[in-house]
Amino acid sequence: MNARWAVGCDGLHSPTRELSGIGFEGHDILKPWPVFDATLENWTDTYEATFVYFGAHPTIFTAIPGHRWRVYLRPSSDESDLVEDASAALRVYAPTASFVDVDNPTRFHCHTKIATSYRSGAVFLAGDAAHLCSPAQGHGMNCGLQDAFNLAWKLALVHNGDADPAMLDSYEAERRPAAGLVARSGDEFEHSLTMTDPADCLARDQAIAAMIADPKARQHEIVAETELNVDYSSSPIVFGDRNDGITAGYRIPDTIFVQPSGKLPCRLVELTQRPYHTLLLLAGPGVLGSVLVDLDEALQKFAADSPLFEALFTLAAQSNSPAPIGQLGSIEANLLGVKAITLLAVRPDGYVGLRSDKNHLQALKRYRTVILEGTRETSSVAGNSTLPGPESL
Ligand SMILES: Cc1cc2nc3c(=O)[nH]c(=O)nc-3n(C[C@H](O)[C@H](O)[C@H](O)COP(=O)(O)OP(=O)(O)OC[C@H]3O[C@@H](n4cnc5c(N)ncnc54)[C@H](O)[C@@H]3O)c2cc1C
Repeated sequence: MNARWAVGCDGLHSPTRELSGIGFEGHDILKPWPVFDATLENWTDTYEATFVYFGAHPTIFTAIPGHRWRVYLRPSSDESDLVEDASAALRVYAPTASFVDVDNPTRFHCHTKIATSYRSGAVFLAGDAAHLCSPAQGHGMNCGLQDAFNLAWKLALVHNGDADPAMLDSYEAERRPAAGLVARSGDEFEHSLTMTDPADCLARDQAIAAMIADPKARQHEIVAETELNVDYSSSPIVFGDRNDGITAGYRIPDTIFVQPSGKLPCRLVELTQRPYHTLLLLAGPGVLGSVLVDLDEALQKFAADSPLFEALFTLAAQSNSPAPIGQLGSIEANLLGVKAITLLAVRPDGYVGLRSDKNHLQALKRYRTVILEGTRETSSVAGNSTLPGPESL
């Protein structure tokens, strides 16, 4: 059987990458990261945190299901007893706790590397085949999963003959910088773990304490750790009006609750979890219901003729809206930066591809052209000087 496309998700030594002649650039991480799973007897602290113990032999405990821990450590020597090394770090902070039911202590040699290209013709790379980073921040698998989400919907559209293959170049444009970000962050974390100069260590500890004490900085750190801060706003297939609430290229937040017309209340993000795009037509307080109904109708008609869009939800921050308009709280509208009428085109991977605050139908037509035809329309959205163009398509 001949395959039309191949996606190499074949890990560190990726035969797909090698056979495609794609380079893998970066460096080895000099010391190994051993790992084992264990239960902690006499553990009195929470299971809802990751514990990072700095010191001569840095040790990290991450909670896994069943009140067990995955323990990462820098060993004291090439042949050392890994459980004893981790126990030495543990005794400093939790003297009565000890490891039991230890599984599979193994030394891993790690690398910071990124493929020179994510695509060679009909062959793509994803996951560890495309990027490697320090395991100390737990980014590797998460980054690979987002590769798959990013590529799958694009490949499906192209494979079905609905979109031009040029659109597939956006996979590398969006995902390679994301891998660069976690690779750099991993290297910085490695550096902070291996500091020995007392003044450097003090400055590091003070910086961490200051970050934890500041709610905004702490939130930023959490969002970065979970890779929810990935930004595709410079992607060639993402564009629209800028806004501090939500702008094109960012993930739709999962903290906004809405009441869609004829449905149970749910999180906004749940409306967008589908194989094709979702359109969200959102209105702030004071928008006339009849204006929204007309726009909803025009957008429904346009979307029905396109293989790109699967669903449209219209939500307004006002009570007593006529069907098909659902409810968006005014606090939620404010959080999303919705003042008058905003149209969001949300991609199957959860990212906003288009934000339009005016001339909504024209903006959507242009978005469809960019995604499906891989071309740029000659006229920009009328009167919309803030709309950055997808120059590279
Ligand atoms: C010590 C350590 C700790 C880590 N901790 C975390 C963490 O806490 N969080 C996190 O997100 N990530 C972590 N990672 C990274 C994570 O494990 C990897 O990023 C992830 O497993 C990569 O998944 P993958 O599917 O891309 O590659 P892999 O898991 O390597 O899978 C590749 C698959 O391809 C198969 N394959 C290879 N060649 C062929 C072939 N020729 N034909 C058919 N099949 C083939 C292999 O058998 C394998 O099953 C850690 C990594 C290490 C080393």
